[in-house]
Amino acid sequence: MLETLIKVDLNKSPEEQSDVLHNRWHPDIPLVAMVKPGAEFRVECIDWTGGQIENDDSANDIRDVDLTKVHYLSGPIGVEGAEPGDLLVVDILDVGTLAESQWGFTGLFAKENGGGFLTEHYPEARKACWDFSGIYASSRHIPNVSFPGIMHPGLIGCLPSKELLAEWNTREAALVVTDPDRVPPLAALPYAPTAVMGQMKGAAAEAAAKEGARTVPPREHGGNCDIKDLTKGSRVYFPVYVKGAGLSMGDIHFSQGDGEITFCGAIEMAGYLDIRVNLIKGGVKKYGVTNPIFKPSNLSPKFDDYLIFEGISVDEDGKQCYLDAHVAYRRACLNAIEYMKKFGYTGEQAYAILGAAPVQGHISGIVDIPNACATLWLPTGIFDFDIRPNADGPVIAVKGGKDLAVVS
Ligand code: ZN
Repeated sequence: MLETLIKVDLNKSPEEQSDVLHNRWHPDIPLVAMVKPGAEFRVECIDWTGGQIENDDSANDIRDVDLTKVHYLSGPIGVEGAEPGDLLVVDILDVGTLAESQWGFTGLFAKENGGGFLTEHYPEARKACWDFSGIYASSRHIPNVSFPGIMHPGLIGCLPSKELLAEWNTREAALVVTDPDRVPPLAALPYAPTAVMGQMKGAAAEAAAKEGARTVPPREHGGNCDIKDLTKGSRVYFPVYVKGAGLSMGDIHFSQGDGEITFCGAIEMAGYLDIRVNLIKGGVKKYGVTNPIFKPSNLSPKFDDYLIFEGISVDEDGKQCYLDAHVAYRRACLNAIEYMKKFGYTGEQAYAILGAAPVQGHISGIVDIPNACATLWLPTGIFDFDIRPNADGPVIAVKGGKDLAVVS
């Protein structure tokens, strides 16, 4: 077992562990440890909400979750010799659960608090809890489904420079002013009251908290990319913006479908990441890198059979949109949900399956005017019944059992 560089305590609040955790991006957050290129080490992470969600049968915690607090990240970790313009090579050697926390959750966020990809169709808070059994997950809230996890960090990246941070804040604020009262908001702007700035203290921490970027979107440094294939065995090349690089990570998922469509759509959990770091000096320029690039793992769950749902860029009201992949993927997801409902699932259960199971999303056509074509690949092997179409019509396989937890 590797040396544990960052250890967390699930019985303590994230604020009590600010010596190793932070929930904003800012170049001045002090490095919590220094490692040499070639070093291998373990990093433990709390779940992205910092323990706000319980393993129970009520969605009140999902409805009430304080999204200004997320995501809690472990780090930043310094790498000796790293300088702006280098590429930080991160090998994800292993990802796992913590012995004391063998469960995870999927949330459908309420439209007024977070929302999700299909929030206009599913505006209310719901929750599914998942139990882990080795590599498999199953949920008392979603019967007749089980699948192997592809554990991965939803969020990982290096600290931004002062200039890059300013650019993020400027462009995101400019977007929000175009529709400042929108629900959910167009972007999550800096918010000082709930900022955890790591080991920064006093006036410096207060000032930095006012400009620290929220962790919600993916950006040039990677961040909250939610790429399900970033699992053990993969290698990522991150641009370095500050001396020492400042690598931080968190938001570990047991499994996730492409798009993480319910927003809290993966199976969220606390866990650990085993990491090896190396440097490519001057790699940003050498390889023309703007956003991180990565190499997938040789390990992945084996699903050979899929039902593939198509969606085109015509919205739910029949409006023709121009090559809009967002609309096309939404329609593909809605088509998959309608299909799964024929086997006895509620729409909410089907929505949660698309967020959490290893479904694939593809942009299949993006040039054939006026319709983009997106496809949603549903692995048939995750169901304990035959979900393929046949001449006899669908059999109601999902009988009894619980639905997703609702607000009580
Ligand atoms: Zn997540």
